[in-house]
Amino acid sequence: MAVKGLRWLVGMGLFVSFLTGSVICNAEGTKTIEVWKNLFAVVNGDGIDSTTTFLITRDGVVVVDTRVTPLEAGKVLAEIRKRTQLPILYTINTHYHGDHTFGNQVFEDSGAIIAHENVKKSLTGASGKAHLDFFKTMNIPGMDETVITLPNMVFKEEMEMYVGGYHLKLIHARGHTDGDLFVYIKELKTLITGDLVSNGKVPYMGDAYVEEWIASLDVLSDFDAEIYIPGHGEPGGKPVLIAMKHYLINLKEMVRNQMEKGLSLKETQDAVRPLLQAKYKNLKKQEWLDANIERAYLEFSMKKDR
Ligand SMILES: [Zn+2]
Repeated sequence: MAVKGLRWLVGMGLFVSFLTGSVICNAEGTKTIEVWKNLFAVVNGDGIDSTTTFLITRDGVVVVDTRVTPLEAGKVLAEIRKRTQLPILYTINTHYHGDHTFGNQVFEDSGAIIAHENVKKSLTGASGKAHLDFFKTMNIPGMDETVITLPNMVFKEEMEMYVGGYHLKLIHARGHTDGDLFVYIKELKTLITGDLVSNGKVPYMGDAYVEEWIASLDVLSDFDAEIYIPGHGEPGGKPVLIAMKHYLINLKEMVRNQMEKGLSLKETQDAVRPLLQAKYKNLKKQEWLDANIERAYLEFSMKKDR
């Protein structure tokens, strides 16, 4: 489909995945979506359904997130090599979680592996090993082959890259973890959000900061973007971002309402779980709702004590 046509349809608030002429599925269910000319999102796949994005520029390729194992990262590399033999110039990690970084070793020859400084901290030494050990309990094929491969270029607030005709901004925004970044590609009006946005799935909140996450989504909203590529699920227009924000605001309000009545964590979970289930019954990973409620409860308990 011509770029102009895609742009118009996205402007109508429809999902990109219905629209692109070029969607390739392999036997395992991994799907490569041509989001724009030269910009591809690899979604679904084995193990964990985290998204990898790659941008083919005239000088080489930029890869954002590396999936959960070298095996899965190898499938991404094969998708890249079907389209170009240009070198991988940069690899970017949106945050430290293994489903976004444990394929890094496949891209270790790229010019740099770039992330927020907290990603490097989290993956270094004992905390990195504990994270890998945790992933090894999940029975994901190829997990034993993973060797933690650290980012070798880090930043604190933001950095800008001018690569083969594209201007990329990498911006730190806490929320899903303490080391999230998102990528804005100005020429394509596209935001690659990492796990600050999930589409069609209850977000994982094991390292989350609920209040700051909502604030970070406000920052994302301010960008002139038409396409949002989430850390999980398919790319879409602004409704994908808005849905994520509504989920977090609902979680926050529902938990706070129960806490104001003096309810315990268990009582709050029992009260809020059915409300969230009713409102978000279409989301995958319903079993994470209790943990989400707990994370919000603990965060707001600490704030109350201060
Ligand atoms: Zn994550």
